[in-house]
Amino acid sequence: MPDPLNDIYYLASAGAYRANAPLTGDTKADICIIGGGFTGLSAAVACAEAGLDVVLLEGEQIGFAASGRNGGQMIPGFNMAAADLIKLVGEDVGRQLYLLAMSARDRVHARIERHDIDCDLRQGHIHLAAKKSDFAHFKDEVTFSDRLLGAGEAVLVAPTDIGQYVGVSGYHGGVYVPKGGHLHPLKYARGLKRAAKSAGARIFEGSRAVSIIEGEKVVVRTISGSVTASNVFLACDAETADLAPKAGRYTMPVLNYIIATEPLSDDCARALIPSNAAVSDSRFVLNYFRLSADNRLLFAGGEKYTPKPPVDIAAFVRPYMLKLFPQLADVRIDYAWGGTVGITVNRLPHIGRDGNKLFAHGYSGQGVLLTTLVGELLADLLKGDSRNFDLFQKIPHRAFPGGKLLRTPTYVAGMLYSAMMDRL
Ligand SMILES: Cc1cc2nc3c(=O)[nH]c(=O)nc-3n(C[C@H](O)[C@H](O)[C@H](O)COP(=O)(O)OP(=O)(O)OC[C@H]3O[C@@H](n4cnc5c(N)ncnc54)[C@H](O)[C@@H]3O)c2cc1C
Repeated sequence: MPDPLNDIYYLASAGAYRANAPLTGDTKADICIIGGGFTGLSAAVACAEAGLDVVLLEGEQIGFAASGRNGGQMIPGFNMAAADLIKLVGEDVGRQLYLLAMSARDRVHARIERHDIDCDLRQGHIHLAAKKSDFAHFKDEVTFSDRLLGAGEAVLVAPTDIGQYVGVSGYHGGVYVPKGGHLHPLKYARGLKRAAKSAGARIFEGSRAVSIIEGEKVVVRTISGSVTASNVFLACDAETADLAPKAGRYTMPVLNYIIATEPLSDDCARALIPSNAAVSDSRFVLNYFRLSADNRLLFAGGEKYTPKPPVDIAAFVRPYMLKLFPQLADVRIDYAWGGTVGITVNRLPHIGRDGNKLFAHGYSGQGVLLTTLVGELLADLLKGDSRNFDLFQKIPHRAFPGGKLLRTPTYVAGMLYSAMMDRL
């Protein structure tokens, strides 16, 4: 029986693909990167461009996990308001982290342009306020953005103006970021792979790392080979705990689901999202949606915290879409899939190093942009400039309570409580 998680629109629309051969035998490298999603791939490009000898091991295929199945929404910044970030890490570090996070969008644009990656890039992201109090926070966020980045980088959208951007009702205003946007994530991942290969990185697919032996040099083993390297970079996001239980305690894998409608007429598509922006809302269990290049609505919504996916993902997500867009009642759903989001307790990514073992995971639903930044900061670190990479180590993180077995039930209880409070 086919896996309900893998009926992925992106796989069907990214074109033919030839995977690289698995690693066989023993090899050496300056850095061994484990994971071929956006984090690992952008690190591979940046490190190879910096002249390092790079080996990347991907257990499945490039873009197999979150990077090849996400919403494609380019949401600038962190999944935390600037004011809260500053409260958490202080004014100076908070501002530096904010500016770094905001630089991610320019870095992604630069990569796409430099490597000529055809990934259906579109400009604009709008975040909608589900509650009046959320809109008040948006105002603070825009004031902060104006001060640090200049006017126009984030634009407050009054409740009466929402219709210019999205054809929905029931929201209390929004914030529009012209430099946000959306892309076809699997095409972007494959474009990064091409760029990394042409910069000299050696990429092995079907090559799951099964163990890491630590030492002055690290030895990473797969079932058919090994890599001895000066450094190892764990870019496995939701699967980090399998290889690095200590770092893995800081993220929780949570399943999230997306549907893609049949292609819509131009008029219908334009009525749904006149701005063609990526759209998300401020609900605890958020809705996020956008149009694809062939005019499908890609919609994610709903809550389910159990580790098992719904039997029928389309039937599970569709009611949330119809609540916002009842006019789509007769529209066919062509694809429905799911993927695992790595989230942290405070929703900021967990990035750091333990000797020559480096890691980055837990982007908490905002990895499309931040991952490219992190890959580039890793290359800076290995070239001797650790300032920006190490800034992330100033973020205080808490491990999820409960150890491996109890982590999920504890988390489910917490999420259900928050979702219920949100509805009340
Ligand atoms: C359904 C969904 C929707 C999302 N929507 C958005 C969105 O709209 N916007 C946004 O910004 N973010 C979104 N995200 C989050 C975003 O996709 C992730 O933050 C980002 O892709 C993480 O990239 P990564 O490279 O760190 O991890 P991944 O893409 O998960 O890559 C990790 C890779 O490591 C490999 N791997 C794991 N263990 C091993 C091992 N032992 N050996 C070898 N390889 C291994 C896996 O096979 C995988 O390919 C979404 C995520 C999901 C699941």
